[in-house]
Amino acid sequence: MRYVIIGNSAAGISALEAIREIDQEGEIAIISEEPYPAYGRVFITKVLRGDCDLDDILTRPRNFYERLRSKILLGETATALDPVKKRITLLSGRFVSYKRLLLATGASAYMPSIPGIERVGVHGLRTIDDSREILHRAKKNRHAVIMGGGPVGLYSAEALLKHELKVTLVIRSDHVLSTIVPKGATTGIEDEMSARGARVIFGQSVVEIHGGKEVLGVTLDNGRSIPCDMVIVGKGVAPNTELARYSKIKMGVGIRVDSHQQTDEPGIYAAGDVTEGYDVVRKEPRLNAMWPNAVFQGRIAGLNMAGRSATNPGYVNLNTGRFFGVPFAIVGFSTPERNQSREIRLNGARGYGRVIVSEKLDSVQRLLGAVLIGETRGAGVLHALIRGGINVTPFLNEMVTSSFSYSALVGSVRKQL
Ligand SMILES: Cc1cc2nc3c(=O)[nH]c(=O)nc-3n(C[C@H](O)[C@H](O)[C@H](O)COP(=O)(O)OP(=O)(O)OC[C@H]3O[C@@H](n4cnc5c(N)ncnc54)[C@H](O)[C@@H]3O)c2cc1C
Repeated sequence: MRYVIIGNSAAGISALEAIREIDQEGEIAIISEEPYPAYGRVFITKVLRGDCDLDDILTRPRNFYERLRSKILLGETATALDPVKKRITLLSGRFVSYKRLLLATGASAYMPSIPGIERVGVHGLRTIDDSREILHRAKKNRHAVIMGGGPVGLYSAEALLKHELKVTLVIRSDHVLSTIVPKGATTGIEDEMSARGARVIFGQSVVEIHGGKEVLGVTLDNGRSIPCDMVIVGKGVAPNTELARYSKIKMGVGIRVDSHQQTDEPGIYAAGDVTEGYDVVRKEPRLNAMWPNAVFQGRIAGLNMAGRSATNPGYVNLNTGRFFGVPFAIVGFSTPERNQSREIRLNGARGYGRVIVSEKLDSVQRLLGAVLIGETRGAGVLHALIRGGINVTPFLNEMVTSSFSYSALVGSVRKQL
């Protein structure tokens, strides 16, 4: 094969399309351990809610692979990579050779090594099969404990409450979403959670999951036991870097790549959640497990694999959505790391807004991040200010007033450019 792509999701599909834009002839194989055509992983929470299933969340038509004259190997797990022989070994015993390889293996739900984590009824939430299994159990179970108050924990809680389960979230910190937003930001979301019947225990972790073959309950740090028949683990993700482990490919938490998405091994590229992208605001490589980032990185990798020189300038985080019906937007970095935050008042009872600005240097102050919860108007403008490295000093005072308008800001920025 001229091109081999391991991973059939945001990054892999985007790379496949980019390669075909440039090279109409070269043979391409795309390998995925999941037995399904590419689907929108971000929508598996809808599957969990029972609102839809695979066919509703496919990201491309079923004849896509054929149309792009690519060979798709579904339900095949790549188990080893030999960069010298330029060959991949599959679990089925087959070998696939490559000239250019893309590692787009994404990430898996992080499962902490606590006693009982292997019991039936303990689930991560990363694949459509996870959603289907949890949904199946939800029909016969009564009480779910959710470990973690991050996005996956909140999405799962919302879905399981819809199925009329009793839901208890066990959260180590003192507020939900604590790894991405500061305390005080999430009051509106927490109020909505309790109004819908979610029970939240702050300041505790699950230290053991007990039962027989199946889950019967959990034990917390403080020794308290909570009976339950299902546990959802929402403790973040771990990049699927195993294939790169025995090569010369440089790794931090994820695979390190250059601005062409190329690794240290000639001919091997990586993109998506498995990599550490360049964070423009922090000026360092970091994990950014977000769909648009995976798509962009996949495209850059694909173009370079096919011989066009394309550069990735890095990403500015932009995460938007709704938790328990409350809209949120997180832009750039969202927790003040050097004490430089100022609050924007937003109209609306549930509105929370905070921008993070850099220290003033020669009258220049730059926006580093923003958290908007309840009222997310302007997130795109703030993203553009960060991406463009715009000096916000001239309109910072204006920004923190309640009458502030983003359209006026667009005018001021234009003048500055
Ligand atoms: C519940 C949930 C909600 C989310 N919500 C959002 C959101 O609102 N906004 C947002 O931007 N992002 C969201 N994300 C994150 C987003 O889904 C990921 O950033 C994106 O899917 C990453 O794409 P990827 O192509 O890097 O990898 P993945 O989507 O993880 O896909 C990895 C691919 O690699 C394959 N694979 C892995 N290992 C092997 C192997 N050894 N052999 C063969 N195949 C292999 C898998 O089968 C799969 O095809 C959410 C994720 C989840 C789970």
